[in-house]
Amino acid sequence: MEWIRHAACVGVDPELFFPISAEDAGDDQRARARRVCEGCPVRSQCLAWALETGQRSGVWGGMDEHERAALSRRRNRARQLASTGA
Ligand code: SF4
Repeated sequence: MEWIRHAACVGVDPELFFPISAEDAGDDQRARARRVCEGCPVRSQCLAWALETGQRSGVWGGMDEHERAALSRRRNRARQLASTGA
């Protein structure tokens, strides 16, 4: 994880990336975390790492756990279709 040294979130309160609430306050927190990720030079590496390691909470690579789960499902489905030649 050499890339983490270049992360835009270095020095940002880590709790910003782990909203506790699913309500409005959590939405605001996720939005602020995503804004940090938007300008991050290692966003793709961060997202890949979160997917590979199965991070189940928090904003990584600009995506929350629900968005990452949906992305994983789409990728798995695409792999299945590719392997069956469909
Ligand atoms: S993408 Fe977001 S969470 Fe990941 S390293 Fe960059 S700023 Fe941090």
